[in-house]
Amino acid sequence: MLKDPLSPLQSELSAASDATEAIKLLAWYDRHHRVLPWRVTPPEHRKGIKPDPYRIWLSEIMLQQTTVEAVKAYFLKFTSKWPDIQALADATEDDVLRGWAGLGYYSRARNLKKCADMIVSAHNGKFPASVEGLKQLPGIGDYTSAAIAAIAFNIPAAVVDGNVERVVSRLFAIKTMMPQAKAEIRTFTQQITPQDRPGDFAQAMMDLGATICTPKKPACLACPLQDNCMASTQGEPEIYPVKPPKKPRPIRYGAAFIILSTQRQIYLRKRDDKGLLGGMSEVPNSDWVSATEAQSPQEIAQLTSVELAPFTSNWQASGSITHIFTHFELRLSIYKTEAADLPPSNNGWWVAADALSDEALPTVMKKAISAVLPDAFKQVATKKAPV
Ligand code: SF4
Repeated sequence: MLKDPLSPLQSELSAASDATEAIKLLAWYDRHHRVLPWRVTPPEHRKGIKPDPYRIWLSEIMLQQTTVEAVKAYFLKFTSKWPDIQALADATEDDVLRGWAGLGYYSRARNLKKCADMIVSAHNGKFPASVEGLKQLPGIGDYTSAAIAAIAFNIPAAVVDGNVERVVSRLFAIKTMMPQAKAEIRTFTQQITPQDRPGDFAQAMMDLGATICTPKKPACLACPLQDNCMASTQGEPEIYPVKPPKKPRPIRYGAAFIILSTQRQIYLRKRDDKGLLGGMSEVPNSDWVSATEAQSPQEIAQLTSVELAPFTSNWQASGSITHIFTHFELRLSIYKTEAADLPPSNNGWWVAADALSDEALPTVMKKAISAVLPDAFKQVATKKAPV
């Protein structure tokens, strides 16, 4: 039963298409599914291969706010190092953070480790096979619990990620603005989720959103659900989901200080465990301060000044970097110097330049170091909203 009243056209479409959406979509998925390292494909299902809850969980945590392409390499690295939940529980948090470095949203990595510990200590090494049981675990909320339940345990839970929000809001031409529309979208998603193959249905919806029902220029002519789609019938699918106007991102300013030893080592230190990028490694840097409109260019320059350096030295200006966090843009001026000994009153450490990839450095710090050592990192992961 739907909580929200439907328009006559929505009622007609949903009643007429209750089963047909799932049937059409699953038939499309059988032919066009993406092959992903964590996925059990329909042909593999038919051979009796079952999804591994550990791999489904790991991929879903990694995919939060991160692209499939960026996740693939991390997933393969993680599963080769920690092939099961016991192996991950045996790892240290620092090791997990090092493996995660570059994926962003580092609280997810810490929760990953906590979740592995809890499954081993309280659940005998097995993931609970219910939405409610999964939701009790660290780092697993509404979306992830539904995704694991559907994909790993074939439970007909409504799995609603950004792709599914887009598809469903278009199928039913939902005019309510986001994020208020989320409850409505979930209700419709639950309604079209089949009892049979709910895991494949969830993955099919994700694939449809990623490859056909794209944010711009959806390929409606290639879509298996075109006959069921109100937005396509109306001729303006791109207006859904209806979003509020974007607010400009505030800008914060700061300075980062690259300290090089004579043996081509870099000085790093650890961030506080709490807060943004908690527990990750960093080069010494100043506070990141928002500028107000009332501040003059000279006052803003003070926020990135070499005077913020942790000690007096022959600092050389080495350009600047910009990094986009979810809620703000960061502009850092970069300075470098050479120092023979550890700087005073800092609990940091030296790392050889060619070993920096093994450190738990977030992307913003990799960018800062790359301003001085352009070859220090072979690649920096691309994310929707890097942190
Ligand atoms: S018909 Fe077009 S708008 Fe509707 S679900 Fe398919 S791709 Fe999206």
